[in-house]
Amino acid sequence: MADQYDFDLVVLGGGPGGYVAAIRAAQLGFKTACIEKEDALGGTCVRVGCIPSKALLDSTELFDQIRHKTESHGIRVGAPEIDVAAMHARKQGVVKANTDGVAFLFRKNKIEWIRGIGRLTSPETLEVDTADGKRAVRAKHVILASGSVPVELPFLKFDHERIVDSTGALAFPEVPGHLVVVGGGVIGMELGSVWLRLGAKVTVLEMAPSILPGMDAEIVRQADKVFRKQGFEIRAGTRVTGAERKGDKVVVTVDGADPIEADYVLVAVGRRAYTQGMGYEEVGIPMERGVIAVDERYHTGVGSVYAIGDAIGGRMLAHKAEEEGVAAVENIAGKHGHVQYDAVANVVYTWPEIASVGATEEELKEKGVEYKVGKFPFSANGRARAMGETEGLVKILADKRTDRMLGLHILGPRASDLIAEAALAIEFQASAEDIARTVHAHPTLPEAVKEAALGVDGRMIHM
Ligand code: FAD
Ligand code: NAD
Repeated sequence: MADQYDFDLVVLGGGPGGYVAAIRAAQLGFKTACIEKEDALGGTCVRVGCIPSKALLDSTELFDQIRHKTESHGIRVGAPEIDVAAMHARKQGVVKANTDGVAFLFRKNKIEWIRGIGRLTSPETLEVDTADGKRAVRAKHVILASGSVPVELPFLKFDHERIVDSTGALAFPEVPGHLVVVGGGVIGMELGSVWLRLGAKVTVLEMAPSILPGMDAEIVRQADKVFRKQGFEIRAGTRVTGAERKGDKVVVTVDGADPIEADYVLVAVGRRAYTQGMGYEEVGIPMERGVIAVDERYHTGVGSVYAIGDAIGGRMLAHKAEEEGVAAVENIAGKHGHVQYDAVANVVYTWPEIASVGATEEELKEKGVEYKVGKFPFSANGRARAMGETEGLVKILADKRTDRMLGLHILGPRASDLIAEAALAIEFQASAEDIARTVHAHPTLPEAVKEAALGVDGRMIHM
């Protein structure tokens, strides 16, 4: 009976959700395949998302440090120059190391990569359009991990030359004279930072009343000030109405203000689940507002078809997709796969970085939860002073009655690394007191987290 299947488990999509699911499945003894249409594994994140954007952020952070920060350390270097082509070549090298890494892990775990465009034709069959023709693949279990694509505004269509999505903005052949960013979300602020640091004028047009809507408002207010000081022009509450190409320029029109002339326009107004044209609806996979609907086990309710990652909506984050991949496979294997969403951290890799986990102050107010707040600024942290990176703060929200950690928000140096401690605390249902009583090495940035935890009880030492 088992022989009628080519595989125990097939994953559609080789992004962080899909490839991690495939590896976990192989670990659990499933004969596994992964269908991916691109010429490299790793998905949006590895090919055109997390990894190349962080490579450019690291390159340009270094450029910015040489330009603005060495002098205060007593280091005199001439004005740095940027070789954009060399920066992109490095970025591609970083991407290749990671995509090759995934391919190596597939070989190590004996996972077959079926390269081609996959389509679900029944709950246990996929048809793959490969370079060698069509191939039908039968599997006992299927995981849909087809990811997401950028949202395109009907009045601001991509021309992929001057009006681009994030993939285009990761590959500008030159430093734009003037870059207009439509959407002051994560992509807008990260990729805006990359080109700002290299000398572009960057104007962010955000529809909401502030950039980074949904993050803790106090942290965003402070971040907004820092970004403006860096040179960002931020116009929140601005409605873009259209754009017109004029040679190598783009004229962007906005409601109630003069048109803006730009060299390039990055449209970063969100991503949408990529679920069309893959047979999902024909096979009866339930959809809800454009995303695949699943239960708490990631089951679609159809045969043994599961779905994970950006394709099922929620926060579109690589680590969330990965954890869902592991959880779905473990559920298929009869284990108890589960993702603790409260402990999923969110990071914006600007400089300073912004990182958060758990509830924002606004969310607690809305839910009527009584809370206490502890805050500690990096200007009072010895290591931050030594680094010359004193902007920002750590803010902890704890339950007023039980002291349980409800949220932690950071604007500051290496916030992306500092947030791991807070995610662990929330996962373990720790109290602020637990963090406050933990010995933190001195002098380190994590001491700011400890101090904020002490602050919840009004007993900070260094403030
Ligand atoms: P994807 O990574 O989108 O993978 C889906 C894969 O399925 C793709 O490779 C696609 O080619 C393949 N596929 C789809 N349909 C088919 C088909 N029919 N046949 C074959 N293959 C198919 N997240 C973070 O957590 N941290 C970050 O720093 C971060 N930075 C980002 C920066 C940018 C510029 C962008 C755009 C995104 C970033 N993200 C980041 C978000 C992150 O990339 C996504 O949340 C993550 O990739 C989702 O993983 P996934 O596996 O669900 O989908
Ligand atoms: P986003 O949701 O973070 O931001 C989109 C922004 O565009 C919002 O601020 C929104 O108010 C604004 N907006 C929407 N319509 C607009 C309009 N017509 N005019 C002006 N502004 C408008 O989305 P994104 O930045 O495109 O990123 C997409 C996804 O990728 C995010 O969900 C994010 O989770 C993920 N991502 C994560 C990271 C990270 O983890 N560091 C980095 C990049 C992307």
